[in-house]
Amino acid sequence: MKNLSHFYINGQWVSPEKPNDFIVENPSNERQIGTISLGTNVDVDKAVTAARNAFNQYGFSSREERIALLEKLLSAYMNRYDEMAQAISQEMGAPIDFATAAQADCGRGHIQTALDALKNYEFQHTSGNATITHEPIGVCGFITPWNWPINQIVCKVAPALATGCTVVLKPSEIAPLSAHVFAKIIDDAGFPAGVFNLVNGDGMGVGSAISSHQDIDMVSFTGSTRAGSLISKSAADTVKRVALELGGKSPNIIFDDVDLESIVTKGVVGCMENTGQSCNAPTRMLVQESVYDDAVKIATQVANNIKIDRADKPGNHIGPLVSKAHFDKVQSMIKEAIESGATLSAGGLGKPEGFELGHFTKPTIFSNVNNKMNIAQEEVFGPVLVIIPFKDEQEAITLANDSPYGLAAYINTPDETKASRVARQMRAGMVRINWASHHYTSPFGGYKQSGNGREWGTYGFDDYLEIKATSR
Ligand code: NAD
Repeated sequence: MKNLSHFYINGQWVSPEKPNDFIVENPSNERQIGTISLGTNVDVDKAVTAARNAFNQYGFSSREERIALLEKLLSAYMNRYDEMAQAISQEMGAPIDFATAAQADCGRGHIQTALDALKNYEFQHTSGNATITHEPIGVCGFITPWNWPINQIVCKVAPALATGCTVVLKPSEIAPLSAHVFAKIIDDAGFPAGVFNLVNGDGMGVGSAISSHQDIDMVSFTGSTRAGSLISKSAADTVKRVALELGGKSPNIIFDDVDLESIVTKGVVGCMENTGQSCNAPTRMLVQESVYDDAVKIATQVANNIKIDRADKPGNHIGPLVSKAHFDKVQSMIKEAIESGATLSAGGLGKPEGFELGHFTKPTIFSNVNNKMNIAQEEVFGPVLVIIPFKDEQEAITLANDSPYGLAAYINTPDETKASRVARQMRAGMVRINWASHHYTSPFGGYKQSGNGREWGTYGFDDYLEIKATSR
């Protein structure tokens, strides 16, 4: 069992102010795999002081100095790539092949795109009699979730370091292994002491200490809409900048002119990937009436054929949900959907046969769902898909936008004019037509209750920069 009770502050691994052990569990077998310590506001104060002192120099570093450091960071990341994939797989249950090819690759991708953006970013230009300078905002507090753990850490840390900011990170207490490996990578890369600091803890303790801290200039949060709203309130007294990347209930519109077998299969697989624990998962499949019954049949078959297995096994199966608490939440949402009259077409309550140990959940499909039902409005964050019929283009648009969220929207039709027309109407930050991929250089973020920021690539720099006009 790994003892990860130390924090990384001012370039050193240090003991917490007050020991407060928290067990980290492997969701595939419910075994304890490590302990961390839950920190306090005293630990956060130490990390913020280190980050502030480091900012006094690092904030004035040259572009060339930061390029050199990010190049070292990329090579240090690649040296520990397999260790990173293992950590992610063990802490949150992503099957090892998926953790290696997709989850761990996000860290590489975000360092690489931040590096590319840094090489070309215009930090200064002239406007009239003024020199406009984009300067690092200062000390940044990062609070991250467990579902794509290194993705969410690195898509904040890489642009922050690229722009000259310093960082205090609190990763998810449920999945702290990957963050620990990342702190070792920062150390390997030789960043000046205090530029990056890691303090473990829970939301109420370390999370609130970060969001309310007087000497933190901005906080960037990824997680639930519930916590995002609490963080905004707690940050308000100090008027710090708050960037939020929150939940989703993304529509996947399927018109009747598609290759149905292929598009429905992609939709189901896309929803179930990462065991449904992705904020941008296409969890509301909207299907044109004329092909609705066929789509439900295909989706049911695809869901029934999805393989489930432990995260340490190679293969293209899905793993367990992250925790017992999360498993219970998903079960209660499935139960509520059944009780409110949705038709259960695949999966349902209970664990899949042969998987009594671990937080495994059946890939579940609900058909004949009304978009007003809770199962169509609330984020499940599990392998649960709802399929809703629509008559025509206008109804598809109305249903797609009838959600408190606006993170992603998926549109499927070979008719490019129709696709563009519908895309224009989506109240969502990311629209994908016919499953085109979303690259690391494109902005990631949402409308409405899905948040207020944009991360990734050059877009990710804006959160970490202040704008100064010097007039002569
Ligand atoms: P969560 O909100 O419970 O926790 C996220 C982080 O916030 C954790 O580190 C937690 O300790 C901390 N936290 C919780 N309450 C806090 C508080 N009051 N003050 C400060 N910190 C607090 O979310 P989760 O269960 O870890 O992650 C799942 C959620 O994240 C889903 O809703 C998902 O949609 C969302 N998510 C969004 C994106 C995006 O980019 N939009 C990406 C991934 C996940």
